[in-house]
Amino acid sequence: MVSAITVTEDGVSIDRDICTRCGKCVEACPNDAMRMMGSEMSVDEVFAEIERDMDYYRDSGGGVTLSGGEVLSQAEFALALLRRCKDEGIHTCLDTSGHGDTAKLVSLLPYVDLVYFDVKHLDPEVHRTVTGHTNELILRNLASVVASGVDLVVRVPVIPGVNDSDEAVAAMAQHMASLAPEAKIHLLPYHRLGSAKYVMLDREYPLGALAPLPPDALGGARGIVESYGMDCEVAV
Ligand code: SF4
Repeated sequence: MVSAITVTEDGVSIDRDICTRCGKCVEACPNDAMRMMGSEMSVDEVFAEIERDMDYYRDSGGGVTLSGGEVLSQAEFALALLRRCKDEGIHTCLDTSGHGDTAKLVSLLPYVDLVYFDVKHLDPEVHRTVTGHTNELILRNLASVVASGVDLVVRVPVIPGVNDSDEAVAAMAQHMASLAPEAKIHLLPYHRLGSAKYVMLDREYPLGALAPLPPDALGGARGIVESYGMDCEVAV
């Protein structure tokens, strides 16, 4: 049998492609050097957690945001949870990369008050180069969200050398102005908060040499978006 764990004199490595995440190595480790992140929960269990903050939601007008990972990879669970929230009058937000099954996305929208939708680049080939996939599915899904009429915030992670040029920002703003002029645009300055997760997974951080962007570096990009009549803010 092939083992996911290899122990050499240089240390322990795990082949994540064949690891089944059974957790037995975590239980067996005598030095508590490993731990499982997250746990499986039922819809009832998650909703019980949500209910504990019900007074806070009522007082603040806040609500529940389903985020990721990618919510669309657990769409059936998300649908059941969103229905429970709507039954109780809780405001719901879906935060998605847009890269997922269109039918599943559309099935969630009747139970969603607000969608946060990532748009990284309008050029399909640049998008493929930086993410491994073209953006056709994402832009189709974005159009489906717009067609549903749900409130929409398009979130653009602005990454130096990838999508921070005036041309790239203008292409995104032009697309949104013609597709959904009522949508809001949030520009998210590139940060490195995800790099620690790569370390935990023994993976190389692909943007290792890239410095974070200070929020005030995005004033020009914001001006470009606003010149297309879009409501825009730099979010941190
Ligand atoms: S979680 Fe399970 S499959 Fe993955 S490395 Fe540990 S023991 Fe092996």
